[in-house]
Amino acid sequence: MKQQKILKKKNKLSEVICFSGLKIKARLVIDASGHKSNFVKRPVQNEIAQQAAYGIVGKFTSPPVSKEQFVLMDFRPNHLNNEEKLSSPSFLYAMDLGNETFFVEETSLASYPALSQENLKKRLYKRLNSKGIKVSEIFHEENCLFPMNLPLPFKKQFVLGFGGAASMVHPASGYMVGSLLRRAPLLAQKLAIFLKEPQLSSLELASKGWEVLWPYELTQRHKLYQYGLRRLMSFDESRLRSFFSNFFRLSTNEWVGFLTNTLPLPKLIYVMSKMFINSPLKVKLGMLKLN
Ligand SMILES: Cc1cc2nc3c(=O)[nH]c(=O)nc-3n(C[C@H](O)[C@H](O)[C@H](O)COP(=O)(O)OP(=O)(O)OC[C@H]3O[C@@H](n4cnc5c(N)ncnc54)[C@H](O)[C@@H]3O)c2cc1C
Repeated sequence: MKQQKILKKKNKLSEVICFSGLKIKARLVIDASGHKSNFVKRPVQNEIAQQAAYGIVGKFTSPPVSKEQFVLMDFRPNHLNNEEKLSSPSFLYAMDLGNETFFVEETSLASYPALSQENLKKRLYKRLNSKGIKVSEIFHEENCLFPMNLPLPFKKQFVLGFGGAASMVHPASGYMVGSLLRRAPLLAQKLAIFLKEPQLSSLELASKGWEVLWPYELTQRHKLYQYGLRRLMSFDESRLRSFFSNFFRLSTNEWVGFLTNTLPLPKLIYVMSKMFINSPLKVKLGMLKLN
């Protein structure tokens, strides 16, 4: 069903008007239509960083990664020339899917403007060619592009968002699915309680929902991640590799917690401070925006 318009009606009900003409009234409308939502209002920001990736599910003349291996980020730049090393970095994300089928994807973590699909495709083939690997069969091509640092939506509005529409993508990793699964039950429980109060209007219900979705703790963590993302985007390939070498020296609980956004705020501040202290000077300067 396609939403066309959402109207307030005496502040108690919202009305969704579909392209078909069908009208649906509800006390609370939740918009889960992704990051391009027309209805969720948020502050305007012009330079939105995007994660872009080009991937292939297919068969190859020799395995692009070892059997049963999953590669989160291979930033090795051996196949790039000096000019390419200076441009926006990208990494290989890959996995063995079994039956001699692999998924390989060249990913730009975040960039403004976004790296083009053609550029990422070229980089992926160059990476494979440098290892003497040819693509022998393509089952599926993946073209990925989504915003990493959409501003958080306003809390006082008639529609509640969820997912990309609610800026729930992790600004430093691009992950969201795990976080949606973790955060949905609490939101549903709270909304069930709020909906039992008949005097609450659409605006009040949605605003209460936004408070549950983006409480102080998660908002502060989001700001820290956004700061981190802005600094990472200014790093060239060598500085970025240096950053990630250091990042993956954190304990598994720490780096996994950082990427999944499950560290409580004090622990996140501790981990980010530890990262900073242990970083080489060139990364420290980049994090402080001193060069
Ligand atoms: C290629 C790709 C790979 C990704 N990989 C990962 C990953 O591995 N892990 C991870 O955590 N995140 C990943 N992400 C990021 C993010 O988790 C996904 O983008 C996720 O699908 C976003 O979920 P969503 O529900 O907000 O929006 P979507 O999945 O985009 O769903 C929105 C739905 O709303 C529908 N819709 C839109 N407008 C209307 C309308 N007006 N009326 C009715 N329906 C409408 C759309 O058709 C769509 O079905 C990836 C993103 C992309 C693009």
